[in-house]
Amino acid sequence: MAHQGSLTRRGFLASATAAGSATLLARLAGAQKAVSPAADVAGKDLTASSVEKVAWKARPFPLTDVRLLPSQWKDMMELNRGFLYSIPNDRLAHNFRMTAGIATDATPLGGWEAPDCELRGHYVGHYLSACALMHASTGDADLRDKANALVAMLAETQAKDGYLGAYSTASYDKLRKHEKVWAPFYTYHKIMAGLLDMYEHTGNAQALAMAVRMADWADTYSASFTPDEWQKVLLVEQGGMNEAAFNLYAITGKPKYRDLGYRFEHKKIFEPLAAGEDKLGGNHANTNIPKVIGAARGYELTGDERYNRISRNFYRDIVEHHSYNTGGTSNGEFWQKPDEISTQLGAAAQECCCAYNMMKLSRHLFGQEPDAAHFDYYERMMVNVRHGTQDRNGMLMYYVPLEPGKYKTFGTPYDAFWCCTGTGSEEYAKLNDSIYFHDDDSVFVNLYIPSRLSWVDRGLGIEMTTKYPAAEKITLRVTSAPKQATALKLRIPYWATKGATIRINGAEQTVPATPTSYARLEHAWQVGDVVELTLPMSLHMASAADDPAVQGAMYGPLALAVLMGREGLSTAMIYGDSGPFDGGHGMPLPEVRQGGVWLEQAEATNEYPLRFRSSGPGIAHTLVPLSHITDERYSVYVRNVAG
Ligand SMILES: [Zn+2]
Repeated sequence: MAHQGSLTRRGFLASATAAGSATLLARLAGAQKAVSPAADVAGKDLTASSVEKVAWKARPFPLTDVRLLPSQWKDMMELNRGFLYSIPNDRLAHNFRMTAGIATDATPLGGWEAPDCELRGHYVGHYLSACALMHASTGDADLRDKANALVAMLAETQAKDGYLGAYSTASYDKLRKHEKVWAPFYTYHKIMAGLLDMYEHTGNAQALAMAVRMADWADTYSASFTPDEWQKVLLVEQGGMNEAAFNLYAITGKPKYRDLGYRFEHKKIFEPLAAGEDKLGGNHANTNIPKVIGAARGYELTGDERYNRISRNFYRDIVEHHSYNTGGTSNGEFWQKPDEISTQLGAAAQECCCAYNMMKLSRHLFGQEPDAAHFDYYERMMVNVRHGTQDRNGMLMYYVPLEPGKYKTFGTPYDAFWCCTGTGSEEYAKLNDSIYFHDDDSVFVNLYIPSRLSWVDRGLGIEMTTKYPAAEKITLRVTSAPKQATALKLRIPYWATKGATIRINGAEQTVPATPTSYARLEHAWQVGDVVELTLPMSLHMASAADDPAVQGAMYGPLALAVLMGREGLSTAMIYGDSGPFDGGHGMPLPEVRQGGVWLEQAEATNEYPLRFRSSGPGIAHTLVPLSHITDERYSVYVRNVAG
């Protein structure tokens, strides 16, 4: 999210209190009576639309068919569930009611949801998406009912012309006059997307009707500009308005929403991408990724090859030329020139929203053209910049600092509500998503996360257990035999160069298992069959393209970080606004000595189950996975010096 007038979040977070965990009381206080949903829609895959021109070659299983089993991932989802319950509906709806002139005595939320913040209302959209996803992921009916009640409260505030917002249309008048205003359509998109998610995952027909009316208002507003004037409006962040409009076209089949999606095409960004030129340097990162997700969705619905080129060229540029070894992207929220990495290790690097959105884009591209490389990338972000960006109380991060000696900071329960609080609330409501995809005759096992899959139509049931990536072995057990031949395809990651081994019921298999591919297992599966996959991990270095001496150490998919102590750190700094973004004064990159293997595994501790130490003469460091660090200074990159 582009801050108004500032690259850091200074000023948006006043309090520096430690996060409190959600309680059962808060959960009960938040749950409200249900509005009956249209149950016939819930759980259907609405992305497989009848108007779709480019069908995905591999499709994800609905969230309802995949349940997480005990693991760090399930813990993260449960912490997030507690956070969602802890926010009362009347506080979420407060600004909407104020705008509509409806009496409210709720205590306003703070941070970016405060009554004087121009972005207010954005989190409410994320919140609806998160509750919808959490319901689909866990079957939690109370949370669905709470979100249904919130939809009903928002419905009362929707204007006759379809406008729905936590502030008046005066913000759109400013946008029309090109006056300074903080991203009205960004917020509009989040609310529309939240309503569409409520329709898709809970069957809430009222939410769909509200989204349709919102789109009609946006259609009328946007149609009132000349094309040139409209392109100036699109210079202001608008989230994924094009994607939301395309999704509405997929649901309703009405071409006016397809045309609305095209109207939100930002030509300054799309034209170079269509021509295959990387002109991303100097552009705000998270402003633009959702536009490209919209292009990918537009391609699926229209067959527009230009949109296909845009999304694939963009993805290649980011993955190959604008990403750190963690998979994260952006520094100070912006992109730099291609391959500028070593000079861009900032305190405000790797905005979490960018990871959320790049994962969403890679999921589209994988569906269209299944390639293990997409999930190699997806997994790298899951294990490095998604895992580890939530604290022990469910509070979420904004940036993942890369400046040596900096540390992680987290939001507070009611006074943050950054953009990344929103995308994080969604992320940790769908950690069961994309673990498995399928095509007509096989299941893709993309991610190694303990889970239970029920492919209802096929009769196939699978349970996966593993401590991966803290361990190398993954076990899949068949709990229900498929009614027809079904291959299991196991992703062999890019780093698995020491040779993966696969056993079925103890017998080693000889199928090809080359890095960045799927090992295909054909077998007459019976209940009780056990597949064991072992992916031997090794230490390797990822060099910055612009300075090979600047390197990030990796162990399997895990980005390691040098521990740099807790000196001077306090709870108020970790949960405060000043955080690591004030001042700079970063330390130099930790140095290691060149030659041979400079890292070796060290003894585990309770705090750090995976530890490594540098073995070069004269310079000793301890390294652990970045995702395991919560309250300690670190550096992801090191300088590998001669000697
Ligand atoms: Zn963000």
